[in-house]
This record gives sequence, structure tokens and C-alpha cells, in this order.
Amino acid sequence: MSAPVLHVDLDVFAANIRSVRARTAPAELMLVVKDDAYGHGLDAIVRRAAREGVRWFGAFDVRESLRARHAAGPDARIFSWLTVGREEIAQALRADIDLGVGDAAFLEDIASVARAEQATARIHLKIDTGLHRNGIRPEDWDGALRRARVLEDEGVLRLVGVWSHIAEASDADDDEARTLFDRAVGAAEAAGFALEARHLSASAASHARPEFRYDLVRVGAFCYGVRSAGGPSGRELGIVPIAALRAPITHAADHSATLGVGSLHGLPSALARRAALEVDGTARRIAEIALVHTVIELPPGAKIGDEVTVFGDGAASATDLAEAIGTVGEEILVRISPLIPRNYRGL
Ligand SMILES: *Cc1c(COP(=O)(O)O)cnc(C)c1O
Repeated sequence: MSAPVLHVDLDVFAANIRSVRARTAPAELMLVVKDDAYGHGLDAIVRRAAREGVRWFGAFDVRESLRARHAAGPDARIFSWLTVGREEIAQALRADIDLGVGDAAFLEDIASVARAEQATARIHLKIDTGLHRNGIRPEDWDGALRRARVLEDEGVLRLVGVWSHIAEASDADDDEARTLFDRAVGAAEAAGFALEARHLSASAASHARPEFRYDLVRVGAFCYGVRSAGGPSGRELGIVPIAALRAPITHAADHSATLGVGSLHGLPSALARRAALEVDGTARRIAEIALVHTVIELPPGAKIGDEVTVFGDGAASATDLAEAIGTVGEEILVRISPLIPRNYRGL
């Protein structure tokens, strides 16, 4: 071995999906595949998930949604929560993408593009439940529903979903958000919309709090085996990391070994002196992370060409490394350079 590789085990991914589904049923899983499926590679991930019977995919923007459509086939439902502008709306409609809508003006844009395309857009209205990122404010909700009613009657759209996003940082804040969400859903149902997809929670809340599951749970992290920093262990969650980053030893000296992976490959240089790699069950301190190499304490018997696991493989996980520098496992994963080859098991 002469270069770093990210090994992705799709059989473990499938097992995580089964575990998440068993835990959150009868809600349906929407697999979140933003950021190239958290760095694991969207195409392989979506294809395997579709084979496992996953029907809903959540993508950030239209570009990812189109890739997900291509990989998942025509029967999947792809939810895109951040399209921008008329051209993206048109592309999304042509690919039969469900659109998240977070403001009234965007609703009008969708209606106008759908009219021009002679299409009926499926939309999910987002209620702002407190994060204030994007979403219709509670005081504007009834007005948005009235407008959606007019446009639905015209045939240019169907309101099929109500959704929001919560911080999952404190139960009290999440409960407040849920009260606003329930009110918004109630108003949409009272206005006669046939909602098929009410969705509020991501990995953590969907796991821990049944009342947050509704029709769909939007889960990314736990399907990839990434536990929340500072949260329950993977064992408690029933998940296992699906990725392992391995790099070759390129130099071995008296007390240190050099690995052929560095910050240009995406390793945060802040890990130096704060985190350790687990080699043969023993923690080896990271002494330095340079552009294309990393220096660690020398594992006994190590020689040039040996493979060292940076994270995964049952050793330190991405979240373990992240915790050493005050971030989250997802950040470690999405930073792994696209130039590092992904090697899949179970394609
Ligand atoms: C990232 C994201 C999710 C998934 O979050 P996880 O914690 O990875 O499960 C769900 N919904 C939205 C809107 C997101 O941005």
C-alpha cells in the first residue's frame, strides 16, 4: 500500500439501516445523503440503500438530488431542501424531486416554473420552529397555507409534506419546536391538505424520542455509524462506523512513524498532540500533522509499507477523534479529500 484509502463497508451500512429502521418504525427512513453522503460517496451509498428498500432520500441541493435520482431509480422519492432559483426548480421538476419550501416567495417561483413546465410540483412546507435558518414563521403560516391552497387548486403544486429541523441540543428547546410543528401540521390538515410526509427529526431525536418520528425520520449520521459527539456509544445506538481511513507508513525512525496522509487529505491539523491513533489496541499519540504526512509515536515492529488505521476498523472512530478537538465526527468525514480513493465492500 502506498497511498491513503477510505474503505467503506456497505454491508455494515446495510446493518445500520436495519438497526435504525427497527428502532424508528413505523416511521419511514429518509436517508440523508448531503455532502456526498457525509464523505462516503453518494452514488454507492444511494445504490446500496435502494437495494435495501430505502425509498426516501434527503439531499441538500438540486445537484445532489439529481445524482440521487440517477442512483436510486425512478421510484425513489428524493427530497431536496435547498433549491435556489428558477433553473434549479425546473431541473428538479423534470427529475420528479420533492421540494422543500422555506419562504412564500419561493412558493410563487415554484408555481410559476411548474406552470411553464406544465408540471405539478410536490412540495414540503417548512415551518420555522426556532432555528431561524430558513422556514416560514409561525405568524405567516396560515397565509402560506392559503396561497398553497390556491396553487394546489390550480394544479401547479401539491402540498404533500410539512417539515422542520431542530437543534437536538436540548430536550426543552426541541419540545418547544415540536409544539410549533404540531400547530403547523394541524393547520395544514384543517385546511384540507392530504399530508403524506410530516418530518421533524434527524438521528439523535428520532432515536431517543418516539414522539418526534411522525411519518419520516431524516437520518444521516447514524446510518453511517457516526454517533453524536458527547452522546451515547455506538453499541447503545446499535450502529457501527462504515468507513475506515487507512494510510501507509512511509518512514519509520527510532521513536516515530510517518504516515502518508496529512491535512491536505483532510485531516484537521488540530488533532496533533490532542488525539491518538489506536494501533494494535494501543494508543499512539499524534505528534504532528503536516500537509501530506502525519507523525505518530512508533508502534512496535512497525515497518515501511504497513497500513495504519487513522479511524474506523473498530479502533478510534471519527467521532472519537472529533471529540479530542471539540468537533463532530461528521466534520472529520466530510473533510476527507475527494482525491482519496473510496474502496467499497458490498457494492
Ligand atoms: C443533516 C440533516 C439531517 C440529518 O442529520 P443527522 O444528524 O446526520 O441524522 C436531517 N435534516 C436536515 C435538514 C439536515 O440538514
